[in-house]
Amino acid sequence: GIKSREIRLLLLGLDNAGKTTLMKDIASEKDASTETTPTLGFNVKSVKTQGFKLNLWDIGGQRKIRTYWRNYFDNTDVLIFVVDSTDKRRFEEAKLVLTELLDDDKLSGVPVLVYANKQDLVHAATASDVANSLDLVSIENRSWRIQGCSALTGKGVEDGMSWVCREVK
Ligand code: GDP
Repeated sequence: GIKSREIRLLLLGLDNAGKTTLMKDIASEKDASTETTPTLGFNVKSVKTQGFKLNLWDIGGQRKIRTYWRNYFDNTDVLIFVVDSTDKRRFEEAKLVLTELLDDDKLSGVPVLVYANKQDLVHAATASDVANSLDLVSIENRSWRIQGCSALTGKGVEDGMSWVCREVK
């Protein structure tokens, strides 16, 4: 029969950013199939749900295995990059990692959604502060969006995913 195209999302970010929590939020428990594949010292988690296939893992401090996880970049429709908005000391690190990702040939032109996560916490930087810290305005040749959210409460997550859906149409 006619099968709709699977939308491939890469969900990346530093450890503790909230990727796992966000993934649970995006994937409705019912139809989601989740698997964890321990590969070469890092866990790739993936979930298939509602026409999406999400791959996620932690990045940063893992340069030497970068060649391996780059294999997961093929045919990515949208990159979702998650930032812990309360962890200002790691904004610079997050910026470096994001810059490196955007410089990768395999992700050339791929739209990027940045979730400024943990907005439910009072000391969280605002979405626009996160955008400034990561210098998102200098992103060229692709569409991008900053979205404040709380993976814990779910607030803002859907707005981000709506943007993702519009981008892949
Ligand atoms: P990962 O390492 O990127 O997969 O991050 P996790 O999803 O495991 O989250 C790391 C920690 O942050 C956990 O203790 C989560 O409960 C917490 N966390 C994740 N998202 C949020 C959020 O939106 N708000 C709050 N308050 N805590 C969060």
